[in-house]
Amino acid sequence: MKPVLSWGRINDKYCNVVRADYFADPNLLTIAESSDNGMLLAHGMGRSYGDSGLNKGGVIFQTTRQNHILDFDTQTGIIKARAGITLEEILRVSVPQGWFLPVTPGTKYVTLGGAVANDVHGKNHHKVGSLGAHIMRLSLTRSDRKTVICSPRTQKKLFNMTIGGLGLTGFINWVEFKLKPIESSYLETENIPYTSLDEFFSLSEESAKWPYTVAWIDCFAPKSKQGRGIFTRAKFSNYGALDIHRDDHIATWPFVTPALFLNRFSITAFNFLYRWRPGARMKGRSHYDSFFYPLDGINHWNRLYGKAGFFQHQSLIPLERSKEGIGDLLDIIKESKQGSFLAVLKLHGPEYSPGTMSFCRPGKGVSLALDFANKGQKTRQLLERLDACVLKHNGRTYPAKDGRMSAQTFQTAFPQWTKLEAMRDPKFSSSFWRRVSQTTS
Ligand SMILES: Cc1cc2nc3c(=O)[nH]c(=O)nc-3n(C[C@H](O)[C@H](O)[C@H](O)COP(=O)(O)OP(=O)(O)OC[C@H]3O[C@@H](n4cnc5c(N)ncnc54)[C@H](O)[C@@H]3O)c2cc1C
Repeated sequence: MKPVLSWGRINDKYCNVVRADYFADPNLLTIAESSDNGMLLAHGMGRSYGDSGLNKGGVIFQTTRQNHILDFDTQTGIIKARAGITLEEILRVSVPQGWFLPVTPGTKYVTLGGAVANDVHGKNHHKVGSLGAHIMRLSLTRSDRKTVICSPRTQKKLFNMTIGGLGLTGFINWVEFKLKPIESSYLETENIPYTSLDEFFSLSEESAKWPYTVAWIDCFAPKSKQGRGIFTRAKFSNYGALDIHRDDHIATWPFVTPALFLNRFSITAFNFLYRWRPGARMKGRSHYDSFFYPLDGINHWNRLYGKAGFFQHQSLIPLERSKEGIGDLLDIIKESKQGSFLAVLKLHGPEYSPGTMSFCRPGKGVSLALDFANKGQKTRQLLERLDACVLKHNGRTYPAKDGRMSAQTFQTAFPQWTKLEAMRDPKFSSSFWRRVSQTTS
């Protein structure tokens, strides 16, 4: 057993890390059976912030050697790849052929299997929904060694439960999905500073035809300018080369930042500099790498938050409650004096995800993603207040970003969790699942 850190560096669990070329490797289940809890969990790039990718006392099965493209039709853009491949590896092959990911999260260093298990969403959710909406078929092996091919037509229940199913329905071997055609690797972008939540909503409405939209917000703005920030909209350009991203990092965060440097003043200064940085209010062109994956440029950026690590809190509030709900969340953050460097507001669209457990399933809404340096009890209390506020507005907190929400919070927001428990592979479990599936009454 060795300690495995989650991306937020908070959840440190002793797991037995096993690498094998195939899930069907007969040793794997034997190793899992002899571990402390007898349970198994697939582990991709470990980019989930909390404990949904960890399995304390059990086996985590590292998938990244299983990174082959099995089929790629460059005429139709349909690609079939093994689940351990990263989005970065797919882009290397697909971009020069004029194809991009239909949906991408804010980092390319995630595996396809991890992206399916959390049914990831991106800056185009308002137009095309989450990744699950683009998956045509997937292959799943359960611990009884039976392999099932699932699709929206065959084995539909298992298909829907596996998309956003937190890796608990079995091992995803491969995934087939359709890429998006592009003529260039570059996007035309517009950055528009705005001064209130009302303006965010009108900009979102006005930009409904833009394929990609997102806003960075200043969570310490005065009440009269609550929600102010920079609204970005973008579309792929019709001209420019089909060149891929560079694989080196601009920099590596060299050390774990002392907590002393992370306070209200440094965050206010950062917000000021970000708001007034050159290019913050311009039309321009960006390569897909700097547009979609700005944080990937800095290796180990998660060390920025110091030894104690950080929490991410991402919530989704239904549209009809979103203005009031986001306002309430920002009030709570300001009152706590614990701000977030990265505060991202995003309109979600009506496209339903097929994923029964998908974070994005309820349709139209607004999500707010925040990072908080871990300052112990006071940060946990803040996060609990945020959870309560999200539930009050009929919203939900994203499991991929969570390492501490209570079982009650999870079960209230995801009442369908019992269906996942019923279809869960009996040999698969995670630290997250054991925490949130506890009896609450
Ligand atoms: C900088 C950054 C930006 C992000 N931006 C976004 C965003 O914009 N939108 C978004 O939705 N998410 C976002 N995320 C979250 C990230 O996309 C998800 O946590 C993703 O699931 C991580 O994939 P991974 O390969 O690292 O998987 P891991 O974190 O290792 O595992 C995640 C889950 O996938 C399961 N899993 C992995 N492989 C398999 C398999 N072969 N079979 C079955 N289950 C499997 C695991 O068991 C686990 O439950 C971001 C994360 C970071 C660090």
